[in-house]
Amino acid sequence: MGKNCKILLHTFVFIILTLLTQIGGVVYLMSFIFSRRIKISFPLKGLAAFLVIYSLGTFVTVPMLAKLFHRERITHYDNLHPANYMTILMNRNYVRSEVNTYLKTVSDKLMHSHPQVKMRYLDANFPLIDGFPLLPHLSHNDGKKVDFSLVYEDEQGHIIDASKSVSGYGVFEEPRSGEINHYKTCLTAGFTMYDAPKYMTLGSINGELRFSEKGTKALMDALTQDEAVDKVFLEPHLKERLRLQSKKIRFQGCHSVRHDDHIHIQLR
Ligand SMILES: [Zn+2]
Repeated sequence: MGKNCKILLHTFVFIILTLLTQIGGVVYLMSFIFSRRIKISFPLKGLAAFLVIYSLGTFVTVPMLAKLFHRERITHYDNLHPANYMTILMNRNYVRSEVNTYLKTVSDKLMHSHPQVKMRYLDANFPLIDGFPLLPHLSHNDGKKVDFSLVYEDEQGHIIDASKSVSGYGVFEEPRSGEINHYKTCLTAGFTMYDAPKYMTLGSINGELRFSEKGTKALMDALTQDEAVDKVFLEPHLKERLRLQSKKIRFQGCHSVRHDDHIHIQLR
């Protein structure tokens, strides 16, 4: 491979790792320096160096550095955990401390009223630098935003702690006939990215599960009752179907993406 091609490839990997994990690009550069300093040669030395530095960064250094940016990892409880552990491995689980306080209140409330409903979080924010967007969610850049999975149940109506896609995004609870349909309106108006989350599933799973109206309603009620929450995005046909009254539940607009595969919350 020519020198220019190599530089281009390394730049590409650096950018992709940075966009996905924030620290991955810097770790990639550090792994070159580190692996050159190790005199012993063995297969996949560069990859091993990357994995060691990345793990130390993710679990030791970054949580400490994040405090400088007023961010911390989402605290877990029996009914609050990530939908997919990759969220943690990719450093997409950081919030401001007031978000953790709010989540503790919601978790306690839900544990009391609906212990079977789990809060399964998806993308939150990166650990460092205000204004650094967590793609593809441009607004997740201030430590105040968290996405949650919808709640699902089995055929017997038992609430199940699982998602319908690997990533937790992209499997939609479509509008039924007669329900308000912003998906159609937005696509007709030319907002072709409105259903872009369909490309983010990383594979559909648990096809036998169905949308849990009682579970999602309980979660939405718990999420919207607290004073600290500013806005919650959920597709209008689901707000209508679940008979949700809170004025905090808004339509995000056609310029954004549809929210009938996940719930978005943001604090003041
Ligand atoms: Zn979001």
